[in-house]
Amino acid sequence: MLYGQIVDAYVEVQETTKRLEMTARLAQLFSETPTDQLRMVVYLTQGRVHPPFLGGELGLAEKLVVKAIALGTGHSVDEVQELMYDTGDLGTACESFLERKVQMALFTEELTVEKVHGNFVKVVEATGSSSQDLKMKLVADLLHSASPVEGRYIVRTILGRLRLGVGDMTIIDALGSAYEVEREPLERAYNLHPDLGEIAVAIAEQGADGLDGFSITAGIPVHCMLAERLPSIGDILERTGGTAALEYKYDGLRVQAHILLDGSVELFSRQLERITDQYPDVVAALKEAEPAAGTIVEGECVPIVPETGEMLPFQVVSRRRGRKHGLEKAMTDIPVSIVLFDCLLAGGEDVTLKPYPERRKVLEGVLKTVDGVQFAEYLITSDPDEGERFFSESIERGSEGIVAKSVAEDSIYRAGSRGFLWIKYKRDYRMELTDTLDLVPVGAYRGRGKRSGVYGALLMASYDRQGDSFETVCKLGTGFDDDTLAEMVGMLDGIKLEGKHPRVSSRLDADIWLEPKLVMEVAGAEITHSPVHTCALDRLKEGAGLAVRFPRFLGNWRDDKSPEDATSTDEVVSMYERQVKTS
Ligand code: ATP
Repeated sequence: MLYGQIVDAYVEVQETTKRLEMTARLAQLFSETPTDQLRMVVYLTQGRVHPPFLGGELGLAEKLVVKAIALGTGHSVDEVQELMYDTGDLGTACESFLERKVQMALFTEELTVEKVHGNFVKVVEATGSSSQDLKMKLVADLLHSASPVEGRYIVRTILGRLRLGVGDMTIIDALGSAYEVEREPLERAYNLHPDLGEIAVAIAEQGADGLDGFSITAGIPVHCMLAERLPSIGDILERTGGTAALEYKYDGLRVQAHILLDGSVELFSRQLERITDQYPDVVAALKEAEPAAGTIVEGECVPIVPETGEMLPFQVVSRRRGRKHGLEKAMTDIPVSIVLFDCLLAGGEDVTLKPYPERRKVLEGVLKTVDGVQFAEYLITSDPDEGERFFSESIERGSEGIVAKSVAEDSIYRAGSRGFLWIKYKRDYRMELTDTLDLVPVGAYRGRGKRSGVYGALLMASYDRQGDSFETVCKLGTGFDDDTLAEMVGMLDGIKLEGKHPRVSSRLDADIWLEPKLVMEVAGAEITHSPVHTCALDRLKEGAGLAVRFPRFLGNWRDDKSPEDATSTDEVVSMYERQVKTS
């Protein structure tokens, strides 16, 4: 298959802002793709070369790509750089160099999907001292044969900035429409086995029946089950039918630990990235706990001071803060423990359909506790007062609050879904009028007066899963200290766009539009109807959306979350509804 066929679809997808049209165009692309190439076409459309859990992210440094364009198009590095500054985008710069080449009729062979994917794979796999040079040559080799528009997309992909405006949910819908499979079973397969390339091949070969083969496998991360929220223990017990298991809500990093058949341990983040190498102490402790092979357990990685047993906030050892003064040392001084709270696969047996109390028993049987591996503290109760005492104790011990878990017959593990089988109740709920939200900046406004030279405010959005889009919910201008404002200039420059991102729905204008990429924790006073924001537009009131009133940045960049993990529009709606009920 020719790479040009994919690029034709990319161009059309980018020309429309209508999601149905994007989906239809992608569906056409997928149905035209021979099955043996489908995997590559799906990954390339996701802007990657492998499924996320295999690593190998594209994202070459601009400097290297400039050199590759120079080599591939026969220009000097200075010329490329100059045009890059003029056009603001290396992809477009490359395209215009290739146009000049076309006029000189210097074309060679046509690029195939296999060739492009193959070179990209070599780029992500290249290591060692001469790898930079090799990567540059691999890209130049593609550009040498690329048509102008192919050059545009090769460059954007290799930079890790494809920006088609297509999320995984849109790809799922397009695959469903190409091969006549409903979204629900596709989404289920994707949650258990998040490899859209493999899923695409299965349904191309066998239709919906192909999805039956997707089951939980040690080594392949599962999309996490998530919690809803309620403002009191009384509300929680009412919702869970009178009884619930209350667990400490550890303030750390969610980790899915996989024990493979050969006994080796792999760790995955909530975004399904392989993070095994970052936590060698956790891997070693898990091995010591003698888990059964073919097991998946879930827990929270928390720094715990060995001398006192005191839990510290995870930020203390997180990468971002690690750059700051003195904390490098803390990383070595404070070992990270894993506190386990669930089990999905036990000795090769899928236990996700067992109710929570049974899974907890299985968890306690599948490995032992050792230094660095423990089980979440919990209490099963029907008494709100006892629950409140447990909550206070959890706060005192350094946790964020509790996660209440249904103990009913139907309390199965629901991969990738947020529901009331798990309900979080955090300390913030009692201090703020509403819960905090994790929102995505999609636009920015230049600062004035004291803030000139930096950004003065950000346009923030929630994520709407159904429409796979980001809907604005507030302008955020408070809660920033001077250091953050200065640091933000560089951070936002890296994700600046020429116009509104196609996945952003906004009635407001911004000085600068941003790629939805970052997630920021925001507190607010209340949720109100809004004539200007698009969050849940027309859902509760004709012509109105929802907005967060008095939003304030809490200083926490949620780099453990992808933009699709941000607070969803559905959550904002339920926060609004709860607020109306309690006021
Ligand atoms: P938050 O922003 O409140 O941390 P979240 O959006 O990351 O939440 P939720 O599912 O809403 O995720 O809240 C549960 C989160 O709390 C989990 O993702 C997990 O990281 C963490 N957690 C800590 N302790 C527990 C526990 N005992 N059971 C389940 N999750 C826990």
